[in-house]
Amino acid sequence: MKHLIPYLQDDQKAADYLRQLRWPDGITCPRCGSDAVEPRERCDNGLQRFNCVHCAVRLGQQFAMFTDWTRSIFEESKLRPLEWLLVVGLWQLKLNATEIAAAADIQERTAQRCINLLDGGIYETYHLDPTRPLEHQVEADECYQSAGSKGLAHKVACRECAPRQRGLQLRGRATAELGRPPILGLVQRRDKTDQDAPAAQVSLEVLGNVRTATIKPIITAKVKVGAQFFTDEYSIYHFAKADYDHRTVNHGAGEYARRDPDGTCVHCNTMEGIWAGLRNFLDRFKGISQRFLHLRVARYEFLHNHGHLHWRQTFEAGLRSIFSTTGDYLRRMAHQHRRMPLTLCYR
Ligand SMILES: [Zn+2]
Repeated sequence: MKHLIPYLQDDQKAADYLRQLRWPDGITCPRCGSDAVEPRERCDNGLQRFNCVHCAVRLGQQFAMFTDWTRSIFEESKLRPLEWLLVVGLWQLKLNATEIAAAADIQERTAQRCINLLDGGIYETYHLDPTRPLEHQVEADECYQSAGSKGLAHKVACRECAPRQRGLQLRGRATAELGRPPILGLVQRRDKTDQDAPAAQVSLEVLGNVRTATIKPIITAKVKVGAQFFTDEYSIYHFAKADYDHRTVNHGAGEYARRDPDGTCVHCNTMEGIWAGLRNFLDRFKGISQRFLHLRVARYEFLHNHGHLHWRQTFEAGLRSIFSTTGDYLRRMAHQHRRMPLTLCYR
């Protein structure tokens, strides 16, 4: 986090740095996209105000103002720019809300709202980015993560069934309804012959169940046709024969890795390693709600895929990604859950 020191002197410096990340090619109006903007006086919290000449004419007003944060995920936040820089740095260190609150000296509820915003921003932009296909050698596997109705006492109370069974081995494949949502993992193996190749690129999707009908559209959208595709012998993956060079290892027969005659290593060990890392990450939240599981998983996915970069590059890539959305996804999500005691931040 050392690179943040110059920007943590005061709110104006922090705001200037954030603005540079949002508009690296010059400031444009978030409403109309025009670059005919003039800086005005700053807000009390250090954010810069601008007047959009184009919007002012269009609306027949003397001024049409916007700030550094208008139409961004930070717009309705009460945290100051300097505090946000700190929180984003701590967020990148994979800390939970309690730890972020302690380290940044803010309230725990505020820290909770902040990580939901940041995780949601990454989910909406980076995770849902359709231009990020996996190719060459791709492994697929699924795991199951316990997640219930944490923090929603009334939802548990009004349910007709008994509470989620904890610590029990479930028969058959678990589902979200049974309190163990499956996560589908797809990973493009790192190219070991290329020194500069990025880390193994992973895509993680939280699902309701693992039927073929659920996973097939995700795999088709994420994995390029013609790729080598490695799985275990679970029947949900049988459809992959049509579009991919599909090879399986037979875990049931004790086979975990094999070298085929053409030299290809058939295994899912890259994905197994990522599951270990993901479990370790999710354990930090000490019980996780199903509402937020996919957001936490998106943060892990983003940080894993940027793991080969310098800390500052990851920090700036994360913020650029988050600045590219207005937070509509989180607003919709908050709306759906409006009868629940919200930890999301929209008033
Ligand atoms: Zn405008």
